[in-house]
Amino acid sequence: MTRIALLGATGSIGRQALEIIAAEPELELVAAASGSQPLDGLAPLTQVGGDLTELLDRAQPDVVLNAVVGFAGLPATLWALEHGVTLALANKESLVAAGELALAAQERGGGLLLPVDSEHSAAYQCLEGRHREQLDSLVLTGSGGPFRGRTREELEDVTPEEALAHPTWSMGPKITVDSASLANKGLELIEAHFLFGLPYERIEVVLQPTSVVHALVRFRDGASLAHLGYPDMRVPIAFALTYPGRAATPVPPLDFTQGLVVEFEAPDLETFPLLALARRAGEDGGTYPCAFNAANEVAVAAFLEGRLPFLAIASTVEETLADVDGAPARGLDELVEADRKARRLAEGAAVA
Ligand code: NAD
Ligand code: MG
Repeated sequence: MTRIALLGATGSIGRQALEIIAAEPELELVAAASGSQPLDGLAPLTQVGGDLTELLDRAQPDVVLNAVVGFAGLPATLWALEHGVTLALANKESLVAAGELALAAQERGGGLLLPVDSEHSAAYQCLEGRHREQLDSLVLTGSGGPFRGRTREELEDVTPEEALAHPTWSMGPKITVDSASLANKGLELIEAHFLFGLPYERIEVVLQPTSVVHALVRFRDGASLAHLGYPDMRVPIAFALTYPGRAATPVPPLDFTQGLVVEFEAPDLETFPLLALARRAGEDGGTYPCAFNAANEVAVAAFLEGRLPFLAIASTVEETLADVDGAPARGLDELVEADRKARRLAEGAAVA
């Protein structure tokens, strides 16, 4: 039996994980947590809000599925890595904000870090068992979101409702807005850098509008491997929870006779500046990725509340990054302080 603690159990990933766990006799839910929604009787141990590491201490799981949204997921990520407990990571924000601290914790803990993000799960599978020196580069794909092909002018008045209408994936509101702005691909770029130890110049982002190809790996001999499948998060969730067993899921294999369209295009970095801003924050290192994430979280919340225009998400992040010093965090306290400072600056930029 694999004993699972599911954090963010009421969210989009959380609910799909519950389905996978219920269908797989080898998986046992021992603990579940949410931010504020009730969880009555969902698991032997439950917790609503508060410090999730207390729940993890009590539950002593084999696997932590961290499906909390945002920086709030960081303590649980660090807990799992530090304790050598397998971390199935959907909460990309924690790895983006605290990449170095997380990898140091994993080094000490010695456990597995399995990505649940579909692109990273795909890349993980393409990279498994390969020798580093054979590798040329990694390609992350993105659908381009609901606003692909639009000009900046056409984005001036877009509403949260329009941003929340994603063409291929059904997800929580924060990541859906991030997908519309391409901030999500920016976060994923930084996530991939930390997960796979690749320099940024060897990680490329391309758009693949039907979301059938999730990632590709290019090798030095000119060959590329791609990971394909219908866009359905139950696949990477099940992969991480049953690793290395690759349990069956209700998702059908691809049907190549049913008009499958696979085309690639370059992202429009001028219309969607958050991808380039994330790349620069990643390359600059230190706490710049933490500040990128914090400012983006603040700006997305303001956009969803109708306080900020869509295009101002990027300008808020850009202004925040220009105002922070980005100095590396020597520990969790300094990281939390960098996050807080970036949030304050972003709040200021967002009302200005
Ligand atoms: P969601 O908004 O649907 O759910 C978020 C969950 O986190 C909820 O259960 C909520 O109660 C909980 N939560 C929020 N704040 C919390 C806090 N302070 N403490 C404890 N719990 C808290 O989000 P989602 O779409 O399921 O995404 C979750 C994570 O997975 C995000 O980091 C997202 O980027 C990542 N992810 C999601 C998808 C997807 O398809 N939804 C795909 C890839 C990656
Ligand atoms: Mg993804």
